[in-house]
Amino acid sequence: MPELVGALDQGTTSTRFMIFDGAGEVVAVDQREHRQIFPRPGWVEHDPIEIWSMTTSVIEGALSRAGLHGSDLVAIGLTNQRETTVIWDRETGEPVYNAVVWQDTRTAELCVALGGDEGPDRFRARTGLPLATYFAGPKARQLLDDLDLTQRAERGELAFGTIDSWIAWNLTGGVNGGRHVTDVTNASRTLLMDLATGTWDADLAMEIGVPTAILPEIVPSIGLDLECVGPLAGIRLAAILGDQQAALFGQACFTPGEAKNTYGTGNFMLLNTGETPVTSEAGLLTTVAYRWGSEPTVFALEGSVAVTGSLVQWLRDNLGLIEDTSEVEPLARSVEDNGDVYFVPAFSGLFAPHWRPDARGVITGLTRFANRGHLARAALESTAFQTRDVLDAMVADSGVELKELRVDGGMTVNDLLMQFQADILGVDVVRPKMTETTALGAAYGAGLAAGLWSGLDEIADLWAEDARWSPAMGDHERTRLHNRWEQAVQRSLGWV
Ligand code: ADP
Repeated sequence: MPELVGALDQGTTSTRFMIFDGAGEVVAVDQREHRQIFPRPGWVEHDPIEIWSMTTSVIEGALSRAGLHGSDLVAIGLTNQRETTVIWDRETGEPVYNAVVWQDTRTAELCVALGGDEGPDRFRARTGLPLATYFAGPKARQLLDDLDLTQRAERGELAFGTIDSWIAWNLTGGVNGGRHVTDVTNASRTLLMDLATGTWDADLAMEIGVPTAILPEIVPSIGLDLECVGPLAGIRLAAILGDQQAALFGQACFTPGEAKNTYGTGNFMLLNTGETPVTSEAGLLTTVAYRWGSEPTVFALEGSVAVTGSLVQWLRDNLGLIEDTSEVEPLARSVEDNGDVYFVPAFSGLFAPHWRPDARGVITGLTRFANRGHLARAALESTAFQTRDVLDAMVADSGVELKELRVDGGMTVNDLLMQFQADILGVDVVRPKMTETTALGAAYGAGLAAGLWSGLDEIADLWAEDARWSPAMGDHERTRLHNRWEQAVQRSLGWV
């Protein structure tokens, strides 16, 4: 019988089930999108029932494509869009409202109020996070307030969870004995967990206004024994990891000092910092990377950049500069260099490491000489410069000098960008053969727990290089370009 492991990847736009073999190769996949619901400016919601129905559908779809049964899998792992918040009725299994998505900004006022005189860093020492609309705890508080459900929550009639909790509860039986759990990586994104101990902090819960009666049990990321029902009856849900943590795991960044950067619509860089959480002074998040059973927790520093790949979409959709995102590279190659043009895509302020909601996009250095090629080039370079700023913050916070950067995501097909990235960082940039690192990370976690792989070393050996870009730029030029970029960033600040 083949030794196979399943990975359920519940993302912001779609849900996928992938089946991997012992070599980490994909055997089958099925994927379905769900609706994005925008009831008001700044509000973003998903329908949890729809997400659950997509989940069962992709599990059945992938199994049937491969002619397999659930019982052919040694275990499954779950990875998910992080921070997105669901509250449901424990008795009926019905959500009390739509899921409030991580991008949703309805808690902006609440976050300011919670910060009080101490401001956004009030909870940073305990949680590793600034008070921002991004995180789940305040979303739960807002829902309870808006729907007048606090008393029901206090009586224990309701359950709160990020998407992992919602899926795990349903996978394990829902109203018929479903397990109400969340893994420690997801819990670390709520502002309710004490980062050092990995447990809910009753004081934090009280200060943020979330009754502890609705919280799930925090479980390790790897080594779970949650028995599924339905199409996966009898199969063990053996691992749960938030999506960016799963990508770090899928990139086999198991050693302190190893980092991955995912280049999608935005960028997410995570650096493994080992068994001690590093409190950021430079504008990064401190988060749990993973915990395997009762082994010590592994921590990460995280830097998120809001606009990277979505700037390429903007060139296509808003300027009509290109018709397809693949055209941006040849257009950027049509010029020798950026012609001193810099593009700071602060469309929704600047995220890490600046955290400046008052910034807005600017294009600087325009002369009569500049053309569409320079704009395309400046747009691509902005992704590399923003990554450099996050990486500099990581080095400042951790004291770790990065040896190389592992990359994945849709923009890593862009050779010009990857070369410029290596040039501007001064370190090698490497892309693995298997770029579905998020699902792969969940599969690795589950497969390790089920004994499909013997340990982290065996997984690290599966990581295979596909492409490598080495710095070819001199130090002087690297510094000059980065200084110009910093000047452009200054011009984007304080616009609002
Ligand atoms: P996500 O998972 O965030 O949806 P993906 O990893 O699928 O994103 O990457 C999609 C992003 O990659 C899009 O924003 C798109 O503009 C960008 N992209 C796709 N092809 C290229 C390319 N050749 N050069 C630069 N960016 C690209």
